[in-house]
Formats: sequence, C-alpha cells, structure tokens
Amino acid sequence: MTFQDLNLNTPLRNALDDLGFTHPTPIQEQSFNVVSSGKDVVGIAQTGTGKTFAYMLPILKNLAYSRQENPRVLVLVPTRELVVQVVEEIEKLSKYINNRVLGVYGGTNINTQKQAVAQGIDILVATPGRLYDLAMSRVLQLKSIQKLVIDEVDVMLDLGFRHQLMNIFDILPERRQNIMFSATMTEDVDALITDFFINPTKISIAVSGTPLDNIKQAHYDVPNFYSKVNLLEHLLSGRDIFNKVLIFVAYKRMADRLFEQLEERFYGESCVIHSNKTQNYRLRSIEQFVSGEQRIMIATDVMARGLDIDDISHVINFDTPIYPENYMHRIGRTGRAEKEGVALVFSTEKEQEAIERIEALMQMQIPMLELPESVEISKELIEEERPQIKERHNPLKQHDDSAGEAFHEKKDKNKKTNQGGSYRRTMAKKYKKPKTRGDKKANRRKRRR
Ligand code: AMP
Repeated sequence: MTFQDLNLNTPLRNALDDLGFTHPTPIQEQSFNVVSSGKDVVGIAQTGTGKTFAYMLPILKNLAYSRQENPRVLVLVPTRELVVQVVEEIEKLSKYINNRVLGVYGGTNINTQKQAVAQGIDILVATPGRLYDLAMSRVLQLKSIQKLVIDEVDVMLDLGFRHQLMNIFDILPERRQNIMFSATMTEDVDALITDFFINPTKISIAVSGTPLDNIKQAHYDVPNFYSKVNLLEHLLSGRDIFNKVLIFVAYKRMADRLFEQLEERFYGESCVIHSNKTQNYRLRSIEQFVSGEQRIMIATDVMARGLDIDDISHVINFDTPIYPENYMHRIGRTGRAEKEGVALVFSTEKEQEAIERIEALMQMQIPMLELPESVEISKELIEEERPQIKERHNPLKQHDDSAGEAFHEKKDKNKKTNQGGSYRRTMAKKYKKPKTRGDKKANRRKRRR
C-alpha cells in the first residue's frame, strides 16, 4: 500500500511528498479508516512506528477550516519533550494547511501560554497538569473539543496522572471521539479503557511471537517472592556468567522491594528504574548499568521501554508478565546484534496461566529447569501473597487508585515498628542461620570515620 491508496487530500499528499514518505507504516495503514470513522480507538504501538501520523493524518484530513477560537482537537501527552515532538510532527504535515497548532506544558510561564491560547487555536497539544490549569483559568475553553487523543497512556498512568485525566474528562464535552495510543498494555491501561471508552476498536501491530533464535529461554517454577529472591541470589552469584542482568518486575513497589533485597546480598551492584525515581536518578542508573559499573538493573515494563542497551547477558522475568506481548518486549532486550542471550522466567502457581498465554503466542514451550538444590524454599509470604480478607463495604477501597503505589508504600512503611537491627533479625529468622556478611552500612560508616 502507498499513501496514494489512502484517500488523502492534496495538501496532505504534498506534505508527505516533501517529507519523502511514500508508504504508510503498518500502524498508519490500520488506523486511517478507523480513526476517520469517528469511533473510539485504542492503538498499541511503540514510538518509532509512525504512531503520531497514524492518528494525525485522518484527523487533519477531516478537520475543516474554521475561524473559531476554541480548539477542536486535544492531544494529551505525558512529558514536555513529547509536546514539542508532537507539535513538530503536526507542523510537518500541516505545511500546506492553514491551521493553528499550539503546544503547552508546565514549568513555563503560564501567562505567555494564555496569550497564545487567546489568539485562537485548532489543535492543542498539552501535558495534563498545564491543560487543567489553563482550563480552570477560563482562558481556554474546551467546549468545542471533538477529538481527544491521549498518547503514551501507559507512561501517563505510570507517572500517576490518572486522577488528572479524570478531571480533564469531566470538563470535556461528552460527545467526542476518544483516541488512545499506548506502547505497552498494562492493567492500568486496561482499566482506563474499560471505564471510559465506548466499545473501542483496538488496533495493534502484531508483536512477533517468534523469539530470536539466539535467545535461550528457560522457565523456573518458584512458589513465592522470597523463594524467587533465593533463586535469584543463587544465579547472580555466578558473576562471570550473569555479568549484565536486566530484571523485570510488573510494578514499582515490587521493583523497590526487590532492590532492597539485592542490596543486602550484592551491595552496590544493582540499580533500579521506575517512574517514582527522578529523571536524574534514572539517567544515572542507566549510565552505570551501560558502563558496567553496576551489573544488575531492575526495571518496570513501562520504564524500560525506551532503553537500548547492548550486551545484556540475561533478562530475568522476576514475575511472569500478564500480557504475552510484554514478555516478547522484555526478552528482546538480550540477544541483540547476533549475540547470544539468555531469558529466564520465574513463575508461581498463580502465574501459570500467564506462562501458558506466552507459550501460546510463541507456539512453543519454554524449557523448564529444576530449582537447584541449594535454593531454599521460603515459607514467608509478602503482603500480596497472603490470603486477602475481603472487606465488602469499605468505601475507602472502592476503585480509587489515584494515589498510586506510593500511597500503599507509605502505609506499609508506617506499619513497621523499630526494633533495632531489624533486618538482620528477619534474615536470621528466614534463613535460620546467622548472616556472615555483616552490616555493610555500619561497616561503611566505620570506614569513613
Ligand atoms: P513516531 O512513531 O510517531 O514517533 O514516528 C517516528 C518517525 O517516523 C518520525 O520522525 C516520523 O516523521 C517518521 N515517519 C512517520 N511516518 C512515516 C512513514 N510513513 N514513512 C517514513 N517515516 C515516517
């Protein structure tokens, strides 16, 4: 298919010609008619697949010239960098169209943006916080919005913007087309679609279910979190073999929890990235992992997406991804550039179904490995593994996850009582033997003195 086959108008065709683009990418091909139809749409596509044009081509084609001042198209994105990038892409396509595009984001002077809004706009690209502030100031009127695009929804939810999105939905006209793009499917994204979209059409470029030949896969059945930690400790002790290890977990709290465990066992050899960490912290972690200064990196699916790191010896799925596509993305981080890579997946009994879905997608079974004898099976359970006591009518618990993981984290922390030297005590209890490595933090303190 070429762009000639899409029913584009001359200004768009000429703009594409100038860019030298002749063929639509797969996501553009699939999106065009669906977005044009006015139905709600959910697209699963990563950056670099041409997703911006996938929603912008049909929107621009159908956006008639107008002199009205209020924007008719709203594009929400999670970061200011993306605001700039999306505005640039729209401008490229609008070379021969007389439309007004504006990008707004936080951390800059709101008054300048108010003035720009007052000039009249057709398409507004914004981060959620700044958009809401502008709407509240009444300079920005959202009553003419016909199309709402939310781009990188997964990142947006991961950054804790759900609440802000809800507020924005409240002030938008009810009759509108919702278009959403996400690079990864997560439970949060799923929930948002179910709650706010009307029977959306889903489009995605099929993730290849064929793993690279040079990735060796294996699967361990492990009953619970602490046993997984013990297995991980056993494996990571082989420093020569496990020399650059990317460990995936599903959510932030688990990432922090695992990081704490690894710090006790392999002090200073690991780092963690997820969206509650500052950008500086994340960049520094990635740098140290890339340079080999740190051998182990723990990451969530959403945050690890943009990473392009060579020579990863092992990808370890500390949990089994619910969405098989995420497994394919995870393991694809190793075995790059023809190098051999190893991908391991740990799964509890609860995660068996997820393993089956992954195996169905790949149409192959992941070879199973026995747990090494020296790996101790722990009986201790973490909060999520304990049987849940159902509180049926607790209004506080009804579907308000807007506070995000941090809320839970705090509650957990507050529950702890200080009994002094507690870590060693719990370890001793768990392993029924004294830990010999000593209290590293205290040792370090001594050395510094
Ligand atoms: P995106 O996935 O939207 O971030 O786009 C990635 C890059 O691909 C952007 O620089 C686009 O300008 C470019 N691009 C978009 N569509 C096409 C196409 N059909 N052919 C070639 N390049 C494209």
